[in-house]
Amino acid sequence: MSVSSSSAHAVRVVIAGGGVAALEAMLALRTLAEDRVALQLVAPEREFTYRPLAVVEPFRVGEVGRFPLATLTKAAGAELRQGMVTSVDPERHVVVGDSGEETSYDVLLLALGARPMPAVANALTFRGPQDGGPLPRSSRRRLPARCGASSLRFRSRPAGLCPSTNSPSSRGRT
Ligand SMILES: Cc1cc2nc3c(=O)[nH]c(=O)nc-3n(C[C@H](O)[C@H](O)[C@H](O)COP(=O)(O)OP(=O)(O)OC[C@H]3O[C@@H](n4cnc5c(N)ncnc54)[C@H](O)[C@@H]3O)c2cc1C
Repeated sequence: MSVSSSSAHAVRVVIAGGGVAALEAMLALRTLAEDRVALQLVAPEREFTYRPLAVVEPFRVGEVGRFPLATLTKAAGAELRQGMVTSVDPERHVVVGDSGEETSYDVLLLALGARPMPAVANALTFRGPQDGGPLPRSSRRRLPARCGASSLRFRSRPAGLCPSTNSPSSRGRT
């Protein structure tokens, strides 16, 4: 299968990924190259998740924004294909999806993100919305530990949370 194009001579661009990098590339290409590109986005998700707000969800002070990829790609005049890219044949300019389907491209843009892994011993690894269940209310009430002007409260002070707690300027504040 080939990426459909609005113009016969459009450059076929396949963008693999459904994160902010892929979407920004899609929008930038459409804005800058107009109908000289035919765009196809390949991603496994149905929705784009705005991850920064995941950090406030456990504290119940906000929620993650989610936007249908189909709506975003349609607005940019791009085609959406749901699935994973499992291999690339650079000689033939073809990507293969997890369904086995082949898509040919002139330009391939990989915006596949990174795989989060635990990096600090004894620390909570927070990957995003999948780790963002609400904190039990009790954990926010007991044994307050404050850093500077922060009003976050913890059951016990996590090691290294307030490295400057013992500095003369911060003494007596916690
Ligand atoms: C909790 C949290 C808070 C954050 N807060 C901020 C912030 O405040 N400010 C900030 O600038 N950044 C923040 N970040 C970082 C920011 O979210 C990332 O830098 C950004 O999401 C990276 O975007 P990306 O598109 O490169 O990758 P990702 O968002 O990881 O997207 C990768 C995409 O590629 C897809 N993909 C992977 N493999 C394949 C494949 N084989 N075929 C097809 N698709 C594939 C994935 O499914 C996904 O859609 C935060 C991150 C987290 C986790």
